[in-house]
Amino acid sequence: MAYNIAVLPGDGIGPEVMAQALRVLKVVEEKFGFSCNLTEGLIGGAGYDAAGHPLPEETKEICLKSDAVFLGSIGGPKWENLPPELTPELGGLLALRKLLNLYANIRPAVIYEELKEMSPLSERILTDKVDFVTVRELAYGVYFGQPKMLEEDEAFDTMRYRKENVEQIARAAFDIAMKRDKRVTSVDKANVLSSSKLWRRVVEEVAKEYPEVTLNHQYVDNAAMQLMLNPLQYDVILTTNLFGDILSDESAAICGSLGMLPSASYGESISLYEPSGGSAPDIAGKNIANPIAQILSLAMMLESSFNEDAAAKAIRDAVDKAVTGGQRTGDIACGGKSITCSQMGDILCQYIKEA
Ligand code: NAD
Repeated sequence: MAYNIAVLPGDGIGPEVMAQALRVLKVVEEKFGFSCNLTEGLIGGAGYDAAGHPLPEETKEICLKSDAVFLGSIGGPKWENLPPELTPELGGLLALRKLLNLYANIRPAVIYEELKEMSPLSERILTDKVDFVTVRELAYGVYFGQPKMLEEDEAFDTMRYRKENVEQIARAAFDIAMKRDKRVTSVDKANVLSSSKLWRRVVEEVAKEYPEVTLNHQYVDNAAMQLMLNPLQYDVILTTNLFGDILSDESAAICGSLGMLPSASYGESISLYEPSGGSAPDIAGKNIANPIAQILSLAMMLESSFNEDAAAKAIRDAVDKAVTGGQRTGDIACGGKSITCSQMGDILCQYIKEA
């Protein structure tokens, strides 16, 4: 059985961290007896430079023929002043998300005991390993709701949800909770917003399909505060497009380094996996980026798209061993000794082989 993966390294540190993730993939393919057909495509500034568009037709075809898309990162100062539809962000990444009809964004947030000092939160709060996942609705809500209007003296947007939109994202969150600690916190603003009242009612209905999962609700203003005061309380946070946009960045901030945080965006047939951070132009081309976010995105892909749970666990165990054992790239070195991007790749490959 071979899995077809579209590999889009992109810009900045994308190609560097992708190279390490593909080395790790080779190791787990051999160890766990599966194989992948990798087809590389151009995206972002790299796509614009080579083919005149940040999402070239050939890349679209590669993605639509694949079982999953594995993305590095896009963007950089070189392409900032292009017309909006040709920028890596709008013309590349957002267009790709639309092409794949992605409806759920999954962002794990982890603060290791050993990396506590990277977090802006105090030791008094971080008494244990923080480990939760934000499940953000990605295709509806106020970003896409019609009508919208912008005039000189008046403007409005529409926060609209249909029952089936909420059911779909709620099931994604409950399914994830079933593989974790079986707790879901649904975040809304049901004290004020009609769309949140529907959201809450539908989430409660879906919860009945998952009797083992404990559900509680928080208003978004409280959740923003609770993330700072007690992030240990969360297992899975389920929330709307707008609230998730804000809360998932807040959860990335409390973790300290973007270089550690993977993400997945689920589509109905093809899902996309990428690091939470961007192309980091400030450190690109120096072999010093942290490849862990890319490598953990690989673990999410193997688990969610291909049910290769053992391989995903082997990757996560290797990352845990490296981090707890003091192997650090510059972003997580806390001023101490650091290793390069490719050395981190070497170490993770070695740990997986040895396990
Ligand atoms: P960024 O995430 O690229 O960088 C923010 C900071 O985090 C930088 O100091 C960077 O060095 C650091 N960082 C990020 N990933 C790292 C890693 N793996 N290892 C070590 N350090 C890491 O955000 P930015 O600087 O605001 O944006 C740079 C470019 O990336 C922009 O063009 C932006 O549009 C684009 N961007 C792309 C994506 C994406 O590809 N999904 C996401 C966000 C930003």
